[in-house]
Amino acid sequence: MNHIFLKSAGIAFASVAASLLPTLIVVPAMGFSINRTIWLTSTLCPLVLAWGTGAYAFWQSERVKNAHRDLARNHAQLAAAHRRLAEKASRDDMTGMLNRESFFAALDGSRRKSDRGALLIVDADHFKTINDSYGHLIGDDALLLIAKAIERGVRSGDVLGRIGGEEFCALLIGATEHEARRVAERIRREVERIRFRPVDERSVPLTVSIGGITCGRDAAVSELMRAADQRLYEAKHRGRNLSIIDRDISEAA
Ligand code: GH3
Ligand code: MG
Ligand code: MG
Repeated sequence: MNHIFLKSAGIAFASVAASLLPTLIVVPAMGFSINRTIWLTSTLCPLVLAWGTGAYAFWQSERVKNAHRDLARNHAQLAAAHRRLAEKASRDDMTGMLNRESFFAALDGSRRKSDRGALLIVDADHFKTINDSYGHLIGDDALLLIAKAIERGVRSGDVLGRIGGEEFCALLIGATEHEARRVAERIRREVERIRFRPVDERSVPLTVSIGGITCGRDAAVSELMRAADQRLYEAKHRGRNLSIIDRDISEAA
């Protein structure tokens, strides 16, 4: 408020000066003397008018600036809330991994950049038995332990998603066939190592089967998923708790 008063005072005194200067030159030049009325009108009028209108204009401009600042702050808060919401909507509530849609979007984006790498599908073995034996809530605990083990198995920068109830996917950015096998084995072993004790001290084994494929340069997401799924099926068929990773056929060419 103080600075509005001071700025409008500056304008008012400048107006008085601008009004006095011609008065002091023109009135004597016309042969009149400068009396008290002339002094008063050429100082008081500009002083009151300029001070009043100046103060009003500065006050309005201040209000517009404040409104603009509030708007910018609200806009930034809204954008941050939108980012948080979008981030939350892209994640699976239980594990915090990307949900199915977001994982496929990430995979698709990575394919467009022609990132080499590998795709793994990780499926919990005989998970229905866990639910049937201990109930769904304890099944959830087991699923969370498996998700944590998968997280420990991948490398930093790899992308993880929960694409189904007890099915997970890992996009191993830039991984070669050899690296993909190592990561898949690490995941398998991390799950195998879990000490899951749902009722007493007795540990119930948890295992996963893993199918994987390295990403050929031109392979589409659906082809990669199909190829990885075939390897997963094979791992299940060969007794589970197994990882089978192959090189994409288009890559070998
Ligand atoms: P397989 O080794 O062939 O994969 O056998 P499976 O029993 O794991 O496979 P199946 O597809 O027959 O059953 C999957 C089970 O996973 C059944 C379903 O109730 C359970 N499941 C899926 N999502 C969740 C979940 O969020 N929480 C719990 N507790 N169980 C889940
Ligand atoms: Mg399963
Ligand atoms: Mg399954």
